[in-house]
Amino acid sequence: MKPDDKDIQWVEEPDLGASGKTYLPLFVEGMTTTIKHLLSPKMTVEFPEERHQIPDPILYRGVHRLNRDEQGRVKCVACFLCATACPAHCIDIVAAESPWPDREKYPASFTIDELRCIFCGMCEEACPVDAIELTSLFDLSGKSREEMVFDKEKLLSIYDRTKDSEPMRSVRMAAEGKPVGGERPAILPETEGPPEIAEKDNLAEPGATP
Ligand code: SF4
Ligand code: SF4
Repeated sequence: MKPDDKDIQWVEEPDLGASGKTYLPLFVEGMTTTIKHLLSPKMTVEFPEERHQIPDPILYRGVHRLNRDEQGRVKCVACFLCATACPAHCIDIVAAESPWPDREKYPASFTIDELRCIFCGMCEEACPVDAIELTSLFDLSGKSREEMVFDKEKLLSIYDRTKDSEPMRSVRMAAEGKPVGGERPAILPETEGPPEIAEKDNLAEPGATP
């Protein structure tokens, strides 16, 4: 393309004027923004010494947990609905014949790859028995990819850790007199905040209760 090509559109350089050439207006504008932020309330916290207070842990979509039933058994009935709904394909279930008379199947193995998960909550919504839920735990970390693939025992241990501060959805809705399986309430009651996590990597297995 030549400089005299008729398709070229030449743009005139804007005239900055005397003050513009000194960058003074831009400097003042920048400093005003900086001072405004210095004087405004701080939104950051000194993590990990200080933990971010999640306004509504029930609605927050953090690390998963596998819930237990009244007898301490895993609630999951290995129906695969969560794995089917998962857009990231990060749930892997191996179903086996249930050792208990009240269900046909149970998960012999249940793993979630937390690094592939996009925390959309579809698994939680799909589960017909409230067996899988997302908690308000957000500071999951690990030294390897394998550590971030949470198995059944780890998922159950997260339930044990969070069950008091974040009751199961069905329990909470029953307590509120709402039909279980209905819509999530827009406004939820205040909770006591996120549970304490002693060590970020210490989501230890609590014994291999199935
Ligand atoms: S939160 Fe979404 S991406 Fe993560 S396991 Fe559940 S369905 Fe899959
Ligand atoms: S967690 Fe729920 S949806 Fe997923 S397999 Fe178990 S019972 Fe089915």
